[in-house]
Amino acid sequence: MEDSLKRKRVKEEDPSGDDALDKKLKTTSARADPWLSSPVASGSSTLAHENEPRNPSVSQPAEPDTEVFVRHHTHWIYDTSPVILQVHKTRFKVHKSRLAKDSLWFRTLFSRNYAAPGVPPEERDVLELIGNSATVVDGVELFVLDPKAKATTVEDLAELLTAMDSAIGYYETTPQFQTVKKIYRAAHLFYFPTYRKFALAILRQMFIANRGISEEPSPYCAECVAIGREYKFPVALMKCAFYDLARSPPPNPTSTLAADMKNLKIEDLVRLNNLQKHLSLVWNDISTCYETTCDVMQCQACAYTRQLPSFRGVVEEAKKAFPFDPLSAIQILVTQEMKKPCPLAAQATTQKLNGLREKIWKDMAEWLNLEE
Ligand SMILES: [Zn+2]
Repeated sequence: MEDSLKRKRVKEEDPSGDDALDKKLKTTSARADPWLSSPVASGSSTLAHENEPRNPSVSQPAEPDTEVFVRHHTHWIYDTSPVILQVHKTRFKVHKSRLAKDSLWFRTLFSRNYAAPGVPPEERDVLELIGNSATVVDGVELFVLDPKAKATTVEDLAELLTAMDSAIGYYETTPQFQTVKKIYRAAHLFYFPTYRKFALAILRQMFIANRGISEEPSPYCAECVAIGREYKFPVALMKCAFYDLARSPPPNPTSTLAADMKNLKIEDLVRLNNLQKHLSLVWNDISTCYETTCDVMQCQACAYTRQLPSFRGVVEEAKKAFPFDPLSAIQILVTQEMKKPCPLAAQATTQKLNGLREKIWKDMAEWLNLEE
């Protein structure tokens, strides 16, 4: 699909451009790909033709006949026409081709081909509504992204456009939660799959990058739970957000977390309570794992260990420190606190605790009533 689009994109380059070059390239008409052509060409609008400056090089001398050039299969802009998008009282002037390249939604809007493959039926009406009410401002087509039809915000769209321009900078500096949230919402609304995936990947990193946790829970966990419910985030990410919420200490009433928790729905709170109940029950399993001995008959070291007054206290202490965070406790038990003098027992205990950690992670989907 992507390849065929690219091929079409090269072929459809302005047929009224440099004649000599066009002949050499043996390109075909722009009509091959209706979403790339102007509204006039698509036949569904009477909007001004002059808003599509499709012939910028007509006055320039032709290329010498002796040389042959090819157009790069990807980097060949098919048009130079901008478009204006309006959200509330703010207007954005952007490259039409740039939006169309990454978004099925904008491709469909610009082509007026509302029944294009992949466009959900419920979205066709929205697109048609916005497409039919387009106007022309100073020769540039203007689409009003009606908030009733397409509930975006100026901030969300701006953040997505910024990401399209300069996401390379995120390699150096990971964007903050509030930024990623906006990118995700706009990418979701306007069908930018690559940016949606990118935002989800960053969000996952913000919560539990690995299952051996010990860092502080994210202050945005409640907000992530709420957005995740609304936009149906992947279960793996929901587990991360809920786990962080479950292990968060009671928030300061003036904190962001406290405010976000007020916005949670009953179904979120039921899930949270159920998760916390199961996480507190896990401690029995942790105790059992921690008491593992070796298989050697009458092992002196194991017998000695069991008699130590501190032995049982280790898990109790961990439970006090991490009541709803057994995963962090397990991480600490297997790395720092494993002081069993019998190496075989220490190894077996580590193995069991690691197995338990995997099981907790797996069972969490069921505890949260989320289908993987
Ligand atoms: Zn032993």
